[in-house]
Amino acid sequence: MKCKNCNKVVGETHSYCPHCGQKMGLGRLNFKQLLKDLWVSLTNTDQGILRLIKHLTYRPGKVAREYVSGRRKSYFNPFNYLLLTVAIALYFILQFETVALDYSKIEPDNKELLQFAFKYFNIFILLMWPIHGSLIWLFFRRRQTNYVENLALTAYLSGQTMLYYILALALFTIFPSLLGPLGTIIGLLISIWYTIAILQFYQTKSFWSILKIVFIITLTNIISQGIIYSTFHIYRTLDI
Ligand SMILES: [Zn+2]
Repeated sequence: MKCKNCNKVVGETHSYCPHCGQKMGLGRLNFKQLLKDLWVSLTNTDQGILRLIKHLTYRPGKVAREYVSGRRKSYFNPFNYLLLTVAIALYFILQFETVALDYSKIEPDNKELLQFAFKYFNIFILLMWPIHGSLIWLFFRRRQTNYVENLALTAYLSGQTMLYYILALALFTIFPSLLGPLGTIIGLLISIWYTIAILQFYQTKSFWSILKIVFIITLTNIISQGIIYSTFHIYRTLDI
């Protein structure tokens, strides 16, 4: 048998190519195969996304730490995870838009801003991701991690936050009158989860680290709001 990926001759008994690792005896690409691959990537006990979501919920920083330390095959790739969850979150946000704009008694000017932020939500999240990674790297640079490792950490964290947003949107849709207080509680819970994640990733519990993380969260919020405001004003001036 010949491997379809690297063309080397492989014995009949192999189910994976010993040269490149590709599965042997792959059929033609068709819809059934595509669905099968999708199902495997969701439920696979090794690299499955459901397993990753579960672990990111209760030990986020440890997952990211294990991933950058070399356990690549055990977890779904952080960068794919971020792209996937941002796409899913964008879909739900666009669905939710009408509910949010109907219930919140906001001025027309802010309404336009909110619509803008919803519409380009995915771009803002992906734009913030490297900035966010830089901040963590900068504040924890004495702890011997490189920038890309921090990008993997923030990809996992931002990706998981997208799922929390979707849950929050579901709650807001069910209880629209509680938008304000629910928003505060969810924001606080996410911040606590996020703080624990970075403490786990950097294997520290020091008060000084907690202070730094609170500062990073504040700074990230200020920068992301700044980006949204300034691009909104440019967008309006350009009148696209
Ligand atoms: Zn091969």
